Amino acid sequence: MLHLENSQAAFDEAKKLMPGGVNSPVRSFANVDSNPPFIARAKGSKIYDIDGNEYIDYVGSWGPMVAGHAHPNVVKALQAAAERGTSYGAPTLLESELAKLVMEVYPTIEEIRMVNSGTEATMSALRLARGFTGRDKIVKFIGCYHGHSDSLLVSAGSGLATFGVPSSPGVTKGTAADTIAVPYNDFEVIERVMKEHGQEIACIIVEPVAGNMGCVLPKQGYLDHLRRLTKEAGALLIFDEVMCGFRASLGGAQAAYGVKPDLTCLGKIIGGGLPVAAYGGRRDIMEQVAPKGPVYQAGTLSGNPLAMTAGLETLKIITADPEPGEPDSSRVLTLKVKKLLLGWQEGARKAGVPIQAHQAGSMFGIFFNEHEVWDFDDSSASDQKAFAVWFKAMLEQGIYLAPSQFETLFMSLAHTEEDIDRTIEASRKAFAKVREMRG
Ligand SMILES: *Cc1c(COP(=O)(O)O)cnc(C)c1O
Repeated sequence: MLHLENSQAAFDEAKKLMPGGVNSPVRSFANVDSNPPFIARAKGSKIYDIDGNEYIDYVGSWGPMVAGHAHPNVVKALQAAAERGTSYGAPTLLESELAKLVMEVYPTIEEIRMVNSGTEATMSALRLARGFTGRDKIVKFIGCYHGHSDSLLVSAGSGLATFGVPSSPGVTKGTAADTIAVPYNDFEVIERVMKEHGQEIACIIVEPVAGNMGCVLPKQGYLDHLRRLTKEAGALLIFDEVMCGFRASLGGAQAAYGVKPDLTCLGKIIGGGLPVAAYGGRRDIMEQVAPKGPVYQAGTLSGNPLAMTAGLETLKIITADPEPGEPDSSRVLTLKVKKLLLGWQEGARKAGVPIQAHQAGSMFGIFFNEHEVWDFDDSSASDQKAFAVWFKAMLEQGIYLAPSQFETLFMSLAHTEEDIDRTIEASRKAFAKVREMRG
């Protein structure tokens, strides 16, 4: 039995200080009927709570920690950077160095602007798309999450789905009316929308591998379809690769599926655990951003030297050339996930619990569902109760997973074969618990 007394007391206090006791909703564990462990420290593949429990971590701060927690290169570089001052609000060499490294991996990004969160990146990309095209309407997909800016909070998956909120109060009718939300992976609906409204639409924004309705892959040819429809309508195609960037493959979903967006949003891994995100793309579009162009966007801490340092060190680790004969980091991560999911699938089969297991590189997840999952409706039809039972049984055994079926899990380079074997072993008991619950 897991002892969480200190965490429980800490959570009781936090609830008096912050809405729901947290600074971001999904952390509260409310929908899995648990209290969250309060974290004291993390190292490699493990995190440790204030009751002294150790967990193998597959949340990885919701994606950024691809090199593992407290990687020595990152820590050392950050210590040295802190000695040189934590913020200047003036240009540094670090910003150009990170920009160049990102553009090498993402050749569709000809110019880039660093910001502080994925929310800021998508919000700014949207403003830019509207400024560039002179059009107001945007198209997004039901169950895709692009951060919490008003236009994008319509049918937004992730925490909203976890808590059963279709949209958010506080988003004005006018804003919501400019957002058209369509089902993911449906070829016909998007074609019809573009036929009817194409000339009013500034952009289609999409998670090219969806991660906020659980991990859901695009159907064969779907991203090409979006590329063709936007081109025909004179609208921009924005890939929100805040999560799938550096994960679906090193070059993101755009490299994995061979589709070139006009603009790309990056986040999470690009900051290596510090607050960094970015948007970038075609030069003629990016030149509309201030001070070069009229579309305004700014940030006191944007390009912060500590944040740039953590991002740079993390990207250096995952882009490093492998030893001769060894696989590169993407391949290593992909193989680890494959092994883990094979183990989980076997455990589920033995327990007689049908699941759908999805993987895109180092992103992965399972749905308690006997049918295929291709969109938000499919994902929502999965058995949430079974997930809660499974999740709790895993936590009890020291496996730390995202507390919602609408979230994605992440592998890091620090996860060992032994970690994965232990995680597979733990899953057997957890699937058996689900079987028991179903009777
Ligand atoms: C996490 C995420 C965001 C928001 O990023 P924040 O840094 O949390 O604001 C946007 N888009 C996608 C696809 C994400 O996964």
